[in-house]
Amino acid sequence: MSAQQDNMDAIISLAKRRGFIFQGSEIYGGLAGTWDYGPLGVMLKNNITNAWWRLFVDERTDMYGIDAAILMNPRAWVASGHVAGFSDPLVEDLKTKKRYRADHLLEEKGVDVKGMKVADMDAAIKEHKLLSPEGNPLGEVRQFNMMLQTQLGAIADASAITYLRPETAGGMFVNYKNVIDAFHPKLPFGLAQMGKAFRNEIAPRDFIFRVRELEQMEVEYFVEPTDWERAFEEWRKKMWEFIEAIGLPRGMVHELEVAKEDLAHYSKRTIDFEFDFPFGRKELYGLAYRTDFDLSAHARESGVDLSYFDEETKKRFVPHVIEPSLGIGRSLLAVLSSAYSEDDMGGEKRIVLRLKPSVAPIRCAVSPLLKNKPELVAKAKEVFALLKKEFGRVMYDDNGNIGKRYRRQDEIGTPHCIVIDFDSLGENPELLDTVTVRDRDTGEQERVHINELTAYLHARD
Ligand code: ATP
Repeated sequence: MSAQQDNMDAIISLAKRRGFIFQGSEIYGGLAGTWDYGPLGVMLKNNITNAWWRLFVDERTDMYGIDAAILMNPRAWVASGHVAGFSDPLVEDLKTKKRYRADHLLEEKGVDVKGMKVADMDAAIKEHKLLSPEGNPLGEVRQFNMMLQTQLGAIADASAITYLRPETAGGMFVNYKNVIDAFHPKLPFGLAQMGKAFRNEIAPRDFIFRVRELEQMEVEYFVEPTDWERAFEEWRKKMWEFIEAIGLPRGMVHELEVAKEDLAHYSKRTIDFEFDFPFGRKELYGLAYRTDFDLSAHARESGVDLSYFDEETKKRFVPHVIEPSLGIGRSLLAVLSSAYSEDDMGGEKRIVLRLKPSVAPIRCAVSPLLKNKPELVAKAKEVFALLKKEFGRVMYDDNGNIGKRYRRQDEIGTPHCIVIDFDSLGENPELLDTVTVRDRDTGEQERVHINELTAYLHARD
């Protein structure tokens, strides 16, 4: 097994052991393509999504947040093209009847699948005499719709069928007119939404990289048709700002201009942001120019006018759209896998997550040097209360000895550990009310006065 894959296994094991991410429905043997976030995973996720909301919504004056229902009128998915075209090319193992992604099988054989249609893949599979992973012959390549269907109401007929949304975008297009009517924004302006989406991925894999129940953070930014290139560049920069905000090394993220023949049905230009995951360079985010495809399609299907009237020029037109689309799980996996490392500190092996302080689930941990000395404990509790009020993400840890506590905090990426010792109580009068602050990355300790602790930590956020 490769070192990279070893790393991936170590990350999955750490995520479970320390309460970041668990297999979905684990006590029942799991459910493929689902994962549950534990307490530390939720904190890490919140830090990532908050950073996105701050950069993409709160710091701007032209963005409107929404939170639309996951279930939508199925006609919305007819309009968006998902009912007809949201599909993956699948091929069946003729013996086991198991289905595989034809493009994945070909890629694994080193075939470049860019621009290939279903018929081309079919021909390539025959040409390379490809077999299934079990070594059996394969059938014909067919398109398979990835939307999850469900039924609403008591009568199980076709009229009750709807879908769990496969992306959050749809909920924004159907609310575009509501926001215009309520807020009268001038172009350019955008809607932002984060939330769950569902895809019946045939081959969920690579931990939380490809799942069936996923979470996205998306923006639909409406512009005048002639303004799209400027807006595209603006959001491209914003995406890089976000990449930096969550602490991903720039060198591990690569832009890929999607070739014309590979563009999705709605897009005139797309850049994929790819990341060097332990299992290879794969899509992290997408930035797409969707033209007026969605608004025009929803206007046609619903019969509602979705054009925009420009008061100044007195012109009426359908705005064009720029869409930065970011996966939450993939962000988390990129953050975890780039932060994970194993090194030696003080002659001892350790696992450390080198997370940026602003995304680390726990900002700092507070401990009394010894847990059986009431004076130390009382002071430690005081410091803990002070920091908890300021940062929220603070842990009180008095298990085992100090060395063990440091290792445990390193493993979950806690940037600073604060220890209250006898000097803090005035054993050395000059050090009264000071504490030691240990840095996760260097292992170095500094003495800081309790009154200066919050400023000290904020300066290192
Ligand atoms: P892929 O080619 O990897 O299947 P996609 O091009 O279908 O992805 P989009 O439809 O552009 O993805 O979705 C936008 C973003 O949502 C992706 O960049 C990714 O971050 C996230 N995403 C999409 N599908 C999944 C999934 N099955 N599991 C986790 N995240 C996903």
